[in-house]
Amino acid sequence: MIIDTHAHLSDTKFDADREAVIKRAFDSGVEKIFEIACRTNYWDKTSELLKQDNIFAAFGIHPNDTAKASAEDYDKLKTLIQHKKCIAVGEIGLDYHYDYSPQNINIQKGSFVKQLDTAYKYNKPVIIHCRDAYGDMLDFFKEYKFVSKGVVHCFSGTPKQAKLFTEAGFLLGIDGPLTYKKSADLKQIVLETDINKLLVETDCPYLAPQEYRGQRNEPSYIIEILKEIALIKNISFNEAAYITTQNAFNLFKTDFL
Ligand SMILES: [Zn+2]
Repeated sequence: MIIDTHAHLSDTKFDADREAVIKRAFDSGVEKIFEIACRTNYWDKTSELLKQDNIFAAFGIHPNDTAKASAEDYDKLKTLIQHKKCIAVGEIGLDYHYDYSPQNINIQKGSFVKQLDTAYKYNKPVIIHCRDAYGDMLDFFKEYKFVSKGVVHCFSGTPKQAKLFTEAGFLLGIDGPLTYKKSADLKQIVLETDINKLLVETDCPYLAPQEYRGQRNEPSYIIEILKEIALIKNISFNEAAYITTQNAFNLFKTDFL
């Protein structure tokens, strides 16, 4: 079984052919899709998607959106994450690459803490977004110990940071960039990290693997990432798919999966 553990099918880039994209994924061997609804304006669309079999969701407020998030948004989030097909809170975290929301404790960090508390309270794992902020994130988890574990989505830090996150109990999300020729660090991380600590995710519509680079990404392309992991780890494709799927089941344990 193959799961795309991180898709954004609610993105407007799928408005024209969303159902065809979903069908293509299921036809190509993907059995479940985890839709990540981290923009408040996607929440209703994602709730609709949850009516379909084998689509699950995470709800959260993306760090870039935290400056404009309202008290009502946080209230609504609490309701959404109690949906029986909600597998996690996310993606939440820190983004120092863009300047949409101030990094300070009142805005990005404050929102992160608030959502970590909500995840902990409702016993949900977290999907972490971290961009140009791995050092701060690691310091943060040293201080803030009582958090739900989860996955550091689309990991793009150094091999050293990868080790520190897995030692802290987090899994690493591996995406399309693994298939790019220049991703030497990421290939090394996959080689050195225990395969039980890896999840596969497309992050579609972004980050299409090498084979489709420059095009819109979609869940069926998850196969390219699994092929690359199998190659690096010197195991079969089926083994790579089986183990990473078990990792997803272990982390996102809901009765409905
Ligand atoms: Zn994402």
